[in-house]
Amino acid sequence: MKPIQTGLECEICESRMVVKLGPRGPFLGCSAYPRCRNTKLMPADLKEKFKDQLPPPPKKKELPKVDITETCPECGGAMKLRSGRGGNFFLACSKYPKCRGTREA
Ligand SMILES: [Zn+2]
Ligand SMILES: [Zn+2]
Repeated sequence: MKPIQTGLECEICESRMVVKLGPRGPFLGCSAYPRCRNTKLMPADLKEKFKDQLPPPPKKKELPKVDITETCPECGGAMKLRSGRGGNFFLACSKYPKCRGTREA
């Protein structure tokens, strides 16, 4: 992706500040990176200005709606669908954290 020019100057080295994308969204970074590591939060007006050029914020994964008929292997209680690391789903006891019964979804 081509860097988005902001027209702002880096106050450290006077290079141009460009829009960069980080895991938490867009921010301003010096175009002389890695020589200059100046970064700035992206001001709201710039976010608005470049919103067509920026990727949309990541959507949260929705839990699929399913009827859970499984019961907890530990206590026999109801199970709930939860999302785990890496976007995988699994069933966990609704009495968590008291009961740590889980099952693969
Ligand atoms: Zn700089
Ligand atoms: Zn349980």
